[in-house]
Amino acid sequence: MTVYNPKSLHAEEFINHQEILDTLEYAWENRHNIPLIERILEKARPKRTAGGVHCAGLTHREASVLLACDLPEQTAQIHRLAEEIKLAFYGNRIVMFAPLYLSNYCVNGCVYCPYHAQNRHITRKKLTQEEIRQEVIALQDMGHKRLAIEAGEDPVHNPLDYILESLHTIYSVKHKNGAIRRANVNIAATTVEDYRKLKQAGIGTYILFQETYHKQSYEALHPTGPKHNYCYHTQAMDRAMQGGIDDVGLGVLFGLEKYRYEFAGLLMHAEHLEAVYGVGPHTISVPRIKRADDIDPTAFDNGLSDALFEHVIACIRIAVPYTGMIISTRESQQVRARALRLGISQISGGSRTSVGGYTEAERPHDSEQFDVSDQRTLDEVVSWLMEQGHIPSFCTACYREGRTGDRFMSLCKSGQILNCCHPNALMTLEEYLADYATPDTRRIGRALIAQELEKIPNQRVRTLAAQHIEDIRASNRRDFRF
Ligand code: SAM
Repeated sequence: MTVYNPKSLHAEEFINHQEILDTLEYAWENRHNIPLIERILEKARPKRTAGGVHCAGLTHREASVLLACDLPEQTAQIHRLAEEIKLAFYGNRIVMFAPLYLSNYCVNGCVYCPYHAQNRHITRKKLTQEEIRQEVIALQDMGHKRLAIEAGEDPVHNPLDYILESLHTIYSVKHKNGAIRRANVNIAATTVEDYRKLKQAGIGTYILFQETYHKQSYEALHPTGPKHNYCYHTQAMDRAMQGGIDDVGLGVLFGLEKYRYEFAGLLMHAEHLEAVYGVGPHTISVPRIKRADDIDPTAFDNGLSDALFEHVIACIRIAVPYTGMIISTRESQQVRARALRLGISQISGGSRTSVGGYTEAERPHDSEQFDVSDQRTLDEVVSWLMEQGHIPSFCTACYREGRTGDRFMSLCKSGQILNCCHPNALMTLEEYLADYATPDTRRIGRALIAQELEKIPNQRVRTLAAQHIEDIRASNRRDFRF
C-alpha cells in the first residue's frame, strides 16, 4: 500500500488514492458543519499586511469541505469570497489567448478524444512551417499576442524537433504591428531533456491536463499508447520543473470521473509542486468534455451541471489564490460570464480547434478537436468583456521580464500588481484598439482606458503609462512594458 506524501516524487504517493477517499469522507461528514465552514472561510479571506494583501489558501481537505457544502447561505458566501480573492490579485483584468493546433496525428487511444489513433474518419493534418506562418499571420491580424500550441502525440509525425521548429517559426513572424510574444505549449508528457529544449525555445507555460487523477479510470480511458502510463503522465510536471520550466499549467477534463475526486487530486498536485519546488502551478484549466467527431459526451456519466461547475471554479479560486485560471471556448458565453466573476483570469477568444482553421473563411469541422460553444470573434469577446466591466489584456510582460515561477508569485503577493500588471494591461489593450478593433470596440475601450489609468497608484507609473498609450495611438511604436 502506498502512503500519502506530498514531497514524494512518486505519483501514487503525492496523489494518493486513500488520502483522496479519506478527504471525500471527511468533506461529506462536514458538509453542513457551519462553524468549521466559517473557520475555513476566515482562513482563506484576504488579509492586509505591510507588504500588500496576503491570502493563505486552503489545503485539499479544507477546500473539499467547501466543495461539498450545499447550504445556500454558505454557498453564497463561498462565491462572494472567490470573487473578492479574484479582484484582490487579478483585479478586473482578463488575459486573452488563442489555441493553435499544429497536428492531430496521434498514437494514443484516449477514448474521449477525436484524435485517438483508432479514429479512421477524422481528417489527419499536420501544418507545414509555411502553413504555420499563415495561421500566425491570421492570428496576429485578429490581435492575438499569446498562443497555446496544441498537438497530438506522435513521435513520427510530430516529434519534438517539429514542435521546436514550429515555435521558432511562430516567434519569427512579424506581420504589420503584430507579434506572438508568448507561446504556451500543450503537448504530451515527455522527458526532462525535451522539457529543457522547450524551455530553451522560449515557451511560456507548459500545459498538460491530467485528464483524471483516478488511476484505474485513467488506465481504462487511455487503453493504448504511451499516454496509458499513469505515473509517467502524472510525474510530467516534476520532469518539466527539473528541465527548468517553472510555469506549469494543470487541469482535469471534467466529466470523466467524479468531480470531487478530481478536485482533491488537482489540489494535491498543486500542494506537491509547492512542497517540492517551492512554487505552485502557474495556471489551472477547467475543461469539460465536449461533443466531437466520434465522441459522444453523454457516454461519460460524470458530467456536472453548470451550477456545480461554477462552484468548482469558486472553490479552486479560494484554495489556490495565486494561480491563474483558464476557461476555453468549450464553454458558452453565459457560463464564461459567471466563471469570470468567480475566479477565471484567462480566456480564449475567436478560437478554431481544427488544424489550419484560422486561414479558412468558414469554421472547418473535419479536423476539429471539440465543438466550440462560444463562436464569437475576438473583437466581439473583447467588446463584451469591457461591457461587463473587465479589462481584456494582451500582456505577456512577466515571462519576458523573467518573472516566472516564484518571481511571478512574489509579484502577486507584493501588492505591486496595480503598478505593474494594470498599466501593462491598459497598454496592450490600446495596441489592440489601435491596430485591430472595430470602431465601436475602440470607442468603448478608450473610455475604459481613461477611467482605468486613474487607478494606478504610483504617479510616475501613471504618467508614463499614459504617455506610452499616446505613443501607441500616434505612431507604430509598440511593446511597452513595466
Ligand atoms: N495530446 C496532448 C496530451 O496528450 O496531453 C494534449 C493536446 S490535446 C489537443 C488538449 C486537451 O484537449 C486534452 O488534454 C484533453 O483534456 C482535451 N480534450 C480531448 N478531447 C476532448 C473533448 N472531446 N472535449 C473537450 N476536451 C477534450
